[in-house]
Amino acid sequence: MAVKKKLYRVWGCRCGARFTVLETDPNKHLVPDRFKCWAKGCRYYVNRDDSLDRGLVAQAIMLYQVLSGLGSEDEKKCGPADVRKMMLGKKVVAVSVEPAPDKHRSFITNLTLEDGKTLHLAPSTRGVTIYKVTHG
Ligand SMILES: [Zn+2]
Repeated sequence: MAVKKKLYRVWGCRCGARFTVLETDPNKHLVPDRFKCWAKGCRYYVNRDDSLDRGLVAQAIMLYQVLSGLGSEDEKKCGPADVRKMMLGKKVVAVSVEPAPDKHRSFITNLTLEDGKTLHLAPSTRGVTIYKVTHG
C-alpha cells in the first residue's frame, strides 16, 4: 500500500479559526499541537488535526511569534536600524543558550545587553529573527 505523503499540518478551533503550515516549513516544530486560540472573543483551544481541510498557509515562524507574545508596540521596534542602534558597542551581560543536537552548536533564544534590554530571537529561513525587545 502506498503511503500517502503528508504535505500540510492543520490546526483547527471550534470558532472556525484554521491554521495551516507546510510540511516543508523549516520551523514547523515550533508550533505546538495544542494552543490557546487568539481569535477575538474565542476562549477555546486550537488543536492539530491533519485530516481537516487546509486553510490559508501560514509561516510557522509567524504563528510562533504570535504564540510567544508579540509584545507592546514599543517592544516590537526591531527593524534593522533599531537593532543596530541597540546592539552596536553594547556589552552582552546574559545569554540564554541551550545545547543543540550537534555538540559543537548551540541554540540561543535571547540576549540581554548591559542597558537591560533583552533581545528575543527566533529561527527563520534567512538567519535569526529578532521579534521582540523587552526592558529590565
Ligand atoms: Zn477559536
